[in-house]
Amino acid sequence: MAKLGEYEPVVGKSVVEELFLLAGHLKGRVMQHVNSTAVGGGVAEILNRLIPLFRDLGVEARWDVIKGDEEFFVITKKFHNMLHGRMEKLTKEDIEYFEEVGDFNLKEINFSGDFIFIHDPQPVTLIKKKAEVGRKWVWRCHIDSASAESSLWNYLAGYIKDYDAAIFSTMAFSKDLPCRQVIISPSIDPVSDKNKYLDQEFINRVLERFQIDKDRPIITQISRFDYQKDPLGVIKVYRLVKKRVDCQLVLAGGGATDDPEGQKILEMVREESKDDPDIHVLLLPPASDKDINALQRASNVILQKSLREGFGLTVAEALWKEKPVVASAVGGIPLQVVHNYTGLLSHTVEGTAGFVKQLLQNPEHAKKLGTNGREHIRQNFLVTRHIRDYLLLMLSLEKEGDFIYL
Ligand code: UDP
Repeated sequence: MAKLGEYEPVVGKSVVEELFLLAGHLKGRVMQHVNSTAVGGGVAEILNRLIPLFRDLGVEARWDVIKGDEEFFVITKKFHNMLHGRMEKLTKEDIEYFEEVGDFNLKEINFSGDFIFIHDPQPVTLIKKKAEVGRKWVWRCHIDSASAESSLWNYLAGYIKDYDAAIFSTMAFSKDLPCRQVIISPSIDPVSDKNKYLDQEFINRVLERFQIDKDRPIITQISRFDYQKDPLGVIKVYRLVKKRVDCQLVLAGGGATDDPEGQKILEMVREESKDDPDIHVLLLPPASDKDINALQRASNVILQKSLREGFGLTVAEALWKEKPVVASAVGGIPLQVVHNYTGLLSHTVEGTAGFVKQLLQNPEHAKKLGTNGREHIRQNFLVTRHIRDYLLLMLSLEKEGDFIYL
């Protein structure tokens, strides 16, 4: 289990000391997180790292996952898509079933936290419990909700309004809500298996295992197989680049238990790529952190060609590894990719392909972007900053109306 002391060489002693100072004012308090999957996707990734670190700070942290069947997750995936602005057919029966599963989970979960953090729309209705148990309730939105479909948003806002606060990843996603809104962006963990240093020998072994040629350029996108990650667009980019540079494409991803669309998208990707041995479509099992780390480190360019993106931890992971990133200018990505400083932003297949070619042909420029990228992540998107934001939020909720003397 990671301990805060391990972060001192990365972020400095004073940053870690400040976390202990802040946490000292929350000793004995319990923070409870509730989301919809223990495996796959950015929310589970973050909670897996945060929970033990809060415990190390003396703040008890718990994590519950709601139960739902396929029908429930088909409905909540529609929610997810609609909050990202995509049209879906949502019926009255869908809403009724969504609420029914929510009510079932109200009975299943023991709401013991002093601070209860509910992640994303799937468990949003659990706020019904507040009338009975009190406590401070926070809704944490990980989605780019800036162009959310309005009727769905209005429905969800009927629940969100009862929370003490709502967290969004960036100001652009905030909403007209009667409750307090807080901006906290996600983070990556520099000492995790996903992000820690790996030696070249290990990286080469991973490439060998996946039959990827280490001597030709590698373009990679790591993502769940999801329409919003645009894997077919990535293949189009690769084909344009391939006309000029003999490169390989790695499309690596796994599923998430709350995402029933993955299999369909994976089949489409496999069909599209089946005649090209230089396209490596890798379906990774859940515990593949070191393999993903190695694939990212082995890559010459990392793509994140999302059509919508709440934040895109994969971008931060790549930048931390000093990789040149070409990504879509959507959602939370521009927080991380400052165009021509920490990476390159694009809107189209042609533009993305043009930037990838530029980077492959100009490794000096690629290296500079990577160096800047790592520093940008160190300053803004490491787990220590994330913990600090959560501690300050809990303190301010607890002392609402008072001045905080630390
Ligand atoms: N990830 C993983 N295995 C996979 C695909 C993705 O562990 O097969 C990780 C990825 O490294 C990142 C997270 O899952 O840490 C995805 O978070 P992101 O914010 O990029 O996207 P989301 O899936 O939440 O939309």
